[in-house]
Amino acid sequence: MGRVLIIGCGGVASVAIHKCCQNSEVFEEIIIASRTKAKCDALKEKLGDGRTKIETVQVDADQKEQVVALIKSCRPDLVMNIALPYQDLAIMEACLECRVNYMDTANYEPENTDDPEWRAVYEKRCRDEGFSAYFDYSWQWAYRKKFEEAGITALLGSGFDPGVTQAYCAYALKHEFDEIDTIDILDCNGGDHGYAFATNFNPEINLREVSAPGSYWENGRWVEVPPMSIKREYEFAQVGKKDMYLLHHEEIESLAKNIPGVKRIRFFMTFGQSYLDHMRCLEDVGMLSTTPVSFEGRDIVPIQFLKALLPDPASLGPRTKGKTNIGCIFTGRKDGREKKYYLYNVCDHQECYREVGSQAISYTTGVPAMVGAMMLLTGKWNKPGVYTVEEFDPDPYMEALNKWGLPWQESREPVLVE
Ligand code: NDP
Repeated sequence: MGRVLIIGCGGVASVAIHKCCQNSEVFEEIIIASRTKAKCDALKEKLGDGRTKIETVQVDADQKEQVVALIKSCRPDLVMNIALPYQDLAIMEACLECRVNYMDTANYEPENTDDPEWRAVYEKRCRDEGFSAYFDYSWQWAYRKKFEEAGITALLGSGFDPGVTQAYCAYALKHEFDEIDTIDILDCNGGDHGYAFATNFNPEINLREVSAPGSYWENGRWVEVPPMSIKREYEFAQVGKKDMYLLHHEEIESLAKNIPGVKRIRFFMTFGQSYLDHMRCLEDVGMLSTTPVSFEGRDIVPIQFLKALLPDPASLGPRTKGKTNIGCIFTGRKDGREKKYYLYNVCDHQECYREVGSQAISYTTGVPAMVGAMMLLTGKWNKPGVYTVEEFDPDPYMEALNKWGLPWQESREPVLVE
């Protein structure tokens, strides 16, 4: 059915590519393009001669012109950006110039947060909106009109969270509620990789997110709190009791706009004490900084150096045991009656590893990336413009999640988070 250009070949992309190859009726041909071509070649070798035809190529996706040239030479029906959030705008620009559909798994974030031009816009946004995360949707939403006029679709954030969590919200609104009052997104990783400290996806992106102030949406405005200052304990199905902490998370921003009348949206993620102690210590000594320091005549960005020291998330697969449980708890009303409802997925690290050679964090992101691409390629979700997952009909996406490895479960009597 289609030909897809996939940019990036790390932990998440590797799962998405495995899944595309399992779904060869839709993904007839894929071109894997990344900064390090050797990784693309190694993956192609591992996947062997399946029914999906695979090509590999080198690209620096920070350079829009390189992406434009690549799109022109391989003429894909869709570009899947599974590189890093830093590349989002360059790849969107290239898609616009070549009039081809776009999708990604995380919203734009600049690599250099000291860039004065970006900083001026950022500081204004902090004042106007009331949250201080480095990432937000404004940069990509600014392309709405241009994508509409070009007749192409951009699907933003089709991973698990963002991504599936928003499909859960759209599904709850369509089938379970007349009005949703509150949404709590709970992201629990009950897995253990045996290291004192490692991150489950790109360390730089992960640590930037986790060390930032937390925030939530309440009664039409953002409430920002110091990092890790709101802690709750929750008993997760098939995982057990875990401590979880309130974080800022990108899907809150779009859900606050797209779920009519919602009064409060919060996001919680579980962390073990060892992770938090290490992170605090690294932060205290300046290792999470994104500002270059001069070391023996060379500029070094501390968090990038730290990335080089930490285990590659893609290597955690064989070591990680346990399960993830990610989902949304809703409260609101249906037919005049108060109700609560919980939609979630439980995913086993070792089962993921047996199937695609990756742990569950990459798996739970890579599968929805493939599913989102499938929605665009099969024409189910095509409408010109720039959209997040909850703006589309959730039913075909939810059905595909069940089929392709992330079946959802529901509870009508969930314990609510205080
Ligand atoms: P990795 O670091 O494992 O992989 C990133 C890949 O992008 C690597 O192959 C890297 O190449 C490539 N890359 C980086 N810069 C460039 C560039 N300039 N040009 C071309 N290729 C480039 O990251 P993950 O797989 O862990 O994460 C991928 C994305 O998924 C991120 O955007 C992350 O934020 C997102 N994510 C989303 C989640 C969700 O639920 N929505 C959850 C987890 C992650 P090289 O090999 O040379 O480094």
